[in-house]
Amino acid sequence: MTKPSAPITQDVLTLPRKLPEGRPNIVGLTREALRAALIAAGTPERQAKMRVNQIWQWVYQWGVRDFAAMTNLAKSYRAELAERFVIEIPEVVSKQVSADGTRKYLVRIAGGHEVEVVHIPETDRGTLCISSQVGCTLTCSFCHTGTQKLVRNLTAGEIIGQVMLARDDLGDWPRQGEGTGERPRLISNIVLMGMGEPLYNFENVRDAMKIAMDGEGIALSRRRITLSTSGVVPEIARAAEEIGCLLAVSFHATTDAVRDRLVPINRRWNIETLLGALRDYPRLSNSERITFEYVMLKDVNDSDEDARRLVRLIAGIPAKINLIPFNEWPGSPYQRSDWARIERFADIIYKAGYASPIRTPRGEDIMAACGQLKSATERARKSRAEIEAEAGL
Ligand code: SAH
Ligand code: SF4
Repeated sequence: MTKPSAPITQDVLTLPRKLPEGRPNIVGLTREALRAALIAAGTPERQAKMRVNQIWQWVYQWGVRDFAAMTNLAKSYRAELAERFVIEIPEVVSKQVSADGTRKYLVRIAGGHEVEVVHIPETDRGTLCISSQVGCTLTCSFCHTGTQKLVRNLTAGEIIGQVMLARDDLGDWPRQGEGTGERPRLISNIVLMGMGEPLYNFENVRDAMKIAMDGEGIALSRRRITLSTSGVVPEIARAAEEIGCLLAVSFHATTDAVRDRLVPINRRWNIETLLGALRDYPRLSNSERITFEYVMLKDVNDSDEDARRLVRLIAGIPAKINLIPFNEWPGSPYQRSDWARIERFADIIYKAGYASPIRTPRGEDIMAACGQLKSATERARKSRAEIEAEAGL
C-alpha cells in the first residue's frame, strides 16, 4: 500500500479585521494601523501618535474596554471613538481547572469557530499557551490538533485577545491604585504552542506579538515569548527579523524516514535543510538558545542511538532540548516512552553538554497538555483509519 501523502498547505482563510457592522476593532491593530485609522476618523495628524499610546495603555496595560473610562482623553473624543471603533476580544465558552491549577479555556471567535488557550501557573509567574489557527493544516501523526480538519487563521486581534481574556479571568490586570508593574504577573511568559502552525499565519502572529512586546502594549520582553514551529523553513529567518522572539522547533526525530512519518512537513523541508536554517537563525546574544522539542514515543524515536544522533545533528547550534513525554488522546496511535527510557535519553543528551529538561505534563486531567488541544465541539473528525494511515501504520 502506498502511504498517502499528508497535505502540506497554508491555503486557509483569514477573516478581515473589520467586523460585519463595519466598525474596526482596536484590538490587534498595529501602532501604524491604529494611527492611520485614527487619522481617517478625524484625529489631527500631529496628535495621532500620542492618542495611539494613550489608547494602547488603556487597552493593553489596564484592560479597559470602554472608551468612556479613558479619562485622559477629552469626553467628546471618547464619544467619537465609541461611534467609530469597538474594543473586542474573543469570548470564553468554557473553562476547566486542573488539579494542578492549569486552566484550559475554550474560546469562541468570529464565525463560531473555537480554539483553546491554556494557562500554566508557577510560583510568582505563569505561562500562557496560545493558539494561532483553528486546527492545523499540518498532520503530525502524534498531535490531536492535526486530526482536526477545519482550519482558519486567527486574526491578530484574536491572537492577542487570548492573552487579554486570560488576564481577565486570572485578575492579572493592575488593580485600582496599583502601578502596572507592582505585582508579579500571572502571565509572565507566552508560548505559541497551542493549536496551529504560527509560521503559516505569519503576519497576524507577528502583529499580535508586536503588541505583546511593546512597552505600551502587553509589555513582555521578547525573551519571554517563544514561537514553536514544526519547521516552516522559509519563514524561520523572517521570524527572527520581523518578530524577534525566541524560537522552538518541533524536531521529534533523528532520521528523515522517521521524521517524514511524525512531522510530515519534513517531506518538504528535511532535517538537513531545517538545521541549515537554524544554524543561520540570527540571535541577539549567545544566551538565546533554540529549543528543540522532542516528543518521547515508545519504540519510535526513543533509543540510545536516537539520543546520540540528535546530539551529533545539532552540534554547533546553541540549543536546549525539551523532552516531552507523549500525551495520549483518544485514538492516538502511539504510546508514551517508559519513564526510565526518557531519563536515560535525557542523560545521554545532558552528558553531551545540553540542558535536557523533561517537560512535566501539566493539566493532563483536563486534556490541556501539549498536543491534546482540539476544540471539543468541532464536528469534522478524522477517522481512526485516517489517523493511522497518516502515521504510516
Ligand atoms: N504547530 C507548532 C506549535 C504547536 S504544538 C509546532 O508543531 O511546533 C506544541 C508542541 O507540542 C510541539 O512541539 C508539538 O510537536 C508537541 N505535541 C503535539 N502533540 C503532542 C502530544 N500528543 N504529546 C506531546 N507533545 C505533543
Ligand atoms: Fe500542527 Fe504543530 Fe500539531 Fe504538527 S504538532 S499538527 S504543526 S499543531
